[in-house]
Amino acid sequence: MRVRFYGVRGSIPTPGPSTVRYGGNTVCVELRLADDTCIVLDAGTGIRELGKQLVLEDYKKPIHLFITHGHWDHIMGLPFFGPVYSKDTTLIFHPTTESGLAGARDPIMFASAHFPVKFTDLPARIDADAHHGDHRIGSAVVSHINLNHPGGATGFRIQDADGTSICYLTDNELDPPGDVTTTVDVLARFSAGTNLLIHDAQYLPSDMPAKRGWGHSVVGEALRLARDAEARAIVLHHHDPDRDDAALDEIGVDAASWAQRHARSLATHVAREGLIIDV
Ligand SMILES: [Zn+2]
Ligand SMILES: [Zn+2]
Repeated sequence: MRVRFYGVRGSIPTPGPSTVRYGGNTVCVELRLADDTCIVLDAGTGIRELGKQLVLEDYKKPIHLFITHGHWDHIMGLPFFGPVYSKDTTLIFHPTTESGLAGARDPIMFASAHFPVKFTDLPARIDADAHHGDHRIGSAVVSHINLNHPGGATGFRIQDADGTSICYLTDNELDPPGDVTTTVDVLARFSAGTNLLIHDAQYLPSDMPAKRGWGHSVVGEALRLARDAEARAIVLHHHDPDRDDAALDEIGVDAASWAQRHARSLATHVAREGLIIDV
């Protein structure tokens, strides 16, 4: 599988000179399975650049879109995804909840209050394939899990036929106040042995307790989950909009040093636009 990051920012796009190396687009990650099937995880503003690449490549197979939840940073790029303006495109939404299915049939981004082109006027063929359990797509099986996030969010595990897997868990608060939707133990079992855990790491200990309950994790919590799951690698993802390039460099250095001490076989990465990982 090849994983490519097109958007790594949480909450809101952050263009400008202080974020130019890691990038300012909101979350969007592309997977290419062993059989070249294209899976898109989230439709933040990063999906615009992905669309350009798919058009350049003349990609003709169906494009499979998984959206973790409907917060704007995960959906606002879709109207700017070039392939939906081509009649040769087939785009398949894969909602896992009733609200996700409603969102796939009538995406709010295309409401006339927000965008000039109607969803029903898009030239592409767009389908919704709702599912509640494991689901085969191309050469992979996709499973999902509920995350700890206000309003709910869905995490995914994509297990390819060649035995490799990735887990995509954002937005997720590993230590939420009040009721826990899914415990760290269950998330570790869900992610067990994965080649690549892509996890929300929006916060630092200095952000707490002010941002507790906002639905995101502290970097150290995400690292510990990767260790407990015996993941081979972690990508720290969904960066805080106020985290500049220098702060993300520091997070990368600290994460690598933590792994040296506590999880020697764990590779650590900080998500940045253009990062490609072959698993
Ligand atoms: Zn988000
Ligand atoms: Zn969210």
